[in-house]
Amino acid sequence: MPEEYIYDVKQIARDNDRSLICRCPHCQNVIGIEGDDIEDVQGEQYQCRCGGWLQVDYDAVRVRPDNLAPNKGIPD
Ligand SMILES: [Zn+2]
Repeated sequence: MPEEYIYDVKQIARDNDRSLICRCPHCQNVIGIEGDDIEDVQGEQYQCRCGGWLQVDYDAVRVRPDNLAPNKGIPD
């Protein structure tokens, strides 16, 4: 069972096919997210195929696809 906490994602990348991708904070897999531009996905919540939820941070930045860092927004 994935944790139910919705983790923040702070890095977005654009894949070779122009789709937006990010790394799931739950399973660390890179997943595609719906949206044309980073502004479209900021603040949006997505569910990974692992079942975990994430929210793209309003301050999320675009990085190169191979620079997507592992992330886990564990709440303080
Ligand atoms: Zn996942």
